[in-house]
Amino acid sequence: MALKDLFTKNHPKKKKYATIPTETAKNDVPEGIMTKCPSCKKIMYTKELTKNLKVCLHCGFHFQMNSRERIDSFIDEGSFEEINENMMSKNPLNFPDYLEKLEKDRLKSNLNEAVVTGIGSVNGNKIVLAIMDASFRMGSMGSVVGEKITLAIEKADELSVPFIIFTASGGARMQEGALSLMQMAKTSVALKRFSEHGGLYISIMTHPTTGGVSASFASLGDFNFAEPGALIAFAGRRVIEQSIREELPEDFQTAEFLLKHGQLDAIISRVDLVEKITNILEIHQPGGELAW
Ligand SMILES: [Zn+2]
Repeated sequence: MALKDLFTKNHPKKKKYATIPTETAKNDVPEGIMTKCPSCKKIMYTKELTKNLKVCLHCGFHFQMNSRERIDSFIDEGSFEEINENMMSKNPLNFPDYLEKLEKDRLKSNLNEAVVTGIGSVNGNKIVLAIMDASFRMGSMGSVVGEKITLAIEKADELSVPFIIFTASGGARMQEGALSLMQMAKTSVALKRFSEHGGLYISIMTHPTTGGVSASFASLGDFNFAEPGALIAFAGRRVIEQSIREELPEDFQTAEFLLKHGQLDAIISRVDLVEKITNILEIHQPGGELAW
């Protein structure tokens, strides 16, 4: 029997019942009127949640943001000018189905790659910005992601303006193998040069920032910040537990844990982000003052 024979298109007419939303349906209403917080389980108006920059009105849980939402919430309106937006990955290692997967993600996310880069301003302070987007290949770093970030750093260097990145990544992109890992060195060298020229680099780690991204440019900021509750990790928890044969603490690999152990400079709520970053940008101008 062929698989299609298991189904029939001609169902007998079903009785109509009122729809009662299931628990899963209530959880998963991204474009609905109401949204349920996965942390405190409270339900709120999606409109109000969006207005509060996708931070839960009750418990402060930070919902994931895509690159467009990030630009809208962080950069002065109308100031963003995207660069290298048409750069696209090839399939250098002939990895099976890779090009099809890229194409599928392009259609799904409306992006050409897992990072958006450009020039913009924050309260009038000009910056170069890179925003990783987890909706494209889980924000993984292939050669185009590495190249776009490197070019953005070089653009900031050329314009003598600060460079800011929002990271969100599942790590290196396995379909590009060693070429993907090389991006760690490439971006790090570009940042080193930028630093030697006196450039200011601010890294803002968002949920999740893992693997080769956490182990390279994400951790190399003059300021390393994170959003509350963000998972920031190199290897997965289970892999580490197996290799050191010890149970890890509950909050291991969270932004809060990293802050406690000196790997972050601060955790900043998205609601305060523009104000705090503006202050940092301004104290790095001649005559600037710290207002924290
Ligand atoms: Zn909540």
